[in-house]
Amino acid sequence: MDLVKLKSFLTEQNLPEYRFRQIVKNYYSGRYLSFDQMTDLSIDLRSKLNSQFSLYSVSEEKIVGDQSTQKALLKLIDNQKIESVLMNYDEWITACVSSQVGCALNCQFCATGKMGFIRNLAPQEIVDQILYWNQKIYPSFVGRIVFMGMGEPFLNWDNLLESLKLINSTEGLNIGARKISISTAGVADKIIEFANLDTQINLAVSLHSANQSFRETIMPIAKKYNLEELKKACLYYVSKTNRQLFFEYALTDKNTSQNDAKLLANFIDSHHLFFVNLIPLNPVEDGLNCATKEQQEKFMNSLNQLRVMYSLRRSFGQKFSAACGQLATESK
Ligand code: SF4
Repeated sequence: MDLVKLKSFLTEQNLPEYRFRQIVKNYYSGRYLSFDQMTDLSIDLRSKLNSQFSLYSVSEEKIVGDQSTQKALLKLIDNQKIESVLMNYDEWITACVSSQVGCALNCQFCATGKMGFIRNLAPQEIVDQILYWNQKIYPSFVGRIVFMGMGEPFLNWDNLLESLKLINSTEGLNIGARKISISTAGVADKIIEFANLDTQINLAVSLHSANQSFRETIMPIAKKYNLEELKKACLYYVSKTNRQLFFEYALTDKNTSQNDAKLLANFIDSHHLFFVNLIPLNPVEDGLNCATKEQQEKFMNSLNQLRVMYSLRRSFGQKFSAACGQLATESK
């Protein structure tokens, strides 16, 4: 639903301003699947809205998962498909949203990367993923958002910022900035721009290796922004915001040697605001393999000795086509 168009449509119909606020409030409440259910509007207005607008831009194609984690394949109005994930095992219910259909960055361990870039998501298509989950779990609601689904959020910059406004605003989803996290594959110049926004939104960087040549092989974007440039941008971010910066590190059989731990420790350089999130990899076809339990243990022991601050994150089970983009690529 395009809110700008909605506003001008209501003005053309000579309807008072409060009608706009009422419809927007209904829309963000996550209670209504269609205009027809908005019984606080006249039948005439509901039918006009139905003929001019579609309330949501996403519809469910498939859903998999269990009580704690669900993953949905969502169809957009142009029939493109994206994924969105709901995680319900913390104090807050978290939605992981996509920012693009496909992705241009082609990381070796990612199913979305294998799709190539198709298009950016509009702000409303990002927000509607959250509303989709709110409808599913009503009267509970999503309290945290992570931009870690399909796509590189920083390469859909304008729409990302617009969606953040809608998510954060009291007239929108009213989710506090500190409860939103964005993950980038390391678009260094955008990390600097993001720091300059002076927001309390959390930032995570997909690092996955502190070895420049290996990182280039698994994340082609590392050729454009090398580790030195990336680190400079990260240091700028923490000095400007004084906020912790999270580095995502997928545990594979190729980046968990003792030397990898040393390189990671060097990159982190004991910075008190740099924190590493270790994630057991969900393998994709022709990609990397997850590190064995033994490799993971050894790597963590090395990090302990090198005094690197980290946590081991739980991984979404492989039986649910867990890797980012796996459901969307399997549905083709
Ligand atoms: S990991 Fe993220 S940035 Fe890399 S290809 Fe996948 S979606 Fe794109």
